Amino acid sequence: MTTLNILHLYPKEMNLYGDRGNILALTRRAEWRGIDIKVIPFEPGDKLPKKVDIIFGGGGQDSGQEKIADDFKRISSDLKILIEKGTPALLVCGLYQLFGEYYQPAGGKKLKGAGIFNLHTVASRDRYIGNIVLKSKKFGEIVGYENHSGLTFLDEFEEPLGEVVSGFGNCGKTDEGIIYKNCIGTYLHGPLLPKNPKITDFLLETALKNLGEKTELKELDDEIENLAHKVATTRPR
Ligand code: GLN
Repeated sequence: MTTLNILHLYPKEMNLYGDRGNILALTRRAEWRGIDIKVIPFEPGDKLPKKVDIIFGGGGQDSGQEKIADDFKRISSDLKILIEKGTPALLVCGLYQLFGEYYQPAGGKKLKGAGIFNLHTVASRDRYIGNIVLKSKKFGEIVGYENHSGLTFLDEFEEPLGEVVSGFGNCGKTDEGIIYKNCIGTYLHGPLLPKNPKITDFLLETALKNLGEKTELKELDDEIENLAHKVATTRPR
């Protein structure tokens, strides 16, 4: 049986608004296809595992981002190597911001990012909170929930995850999130994956492809996921 190793970045500090649910979605949809999952929680001071098939990082308050910032700098170049070689990854909110060039919190010092995403983020005085719907070339309609003060600016020609249909997104314009190689950054909490199974399967299929495994995942009955998705689109902003 194939085993996929999921590197879960800083779950103690970076796990806001149910982001850990993304790990559950990846694990269940893999197990339902006979694929074994090993989740490796990674905390400051830890050594990166030798085999990383998928990377996941959730959201955090400014204080949480500040707490992990130094350790994150320590592993940034290794993370960049993994992303550049096509490792699938999902980074939500706080770690989405830190995968960019930098995050400038409202009161604190600028936090250096990994420079994996060509973007930067500056905290604003407002918070952008509410249900959000996107339309994405790669994944169709995406639903979620956002809660951030950061305004994120993608460098020119970078590919957003999707276009905002309703909600705020990166900086109140039309773009939300980013896709770079097989690495997705987004503000969408929720958690994101249970209501957007196409993204979950993309992460699993890409990890299997990278291992040279058969990548056709068995179709699942997504009736509940699709219902949850539909209900989320009817929620007021
Ligand atoms: N602290 C960051 C912000 O407020 C990220 C928040 C989050 O991860 N939900 O923008």
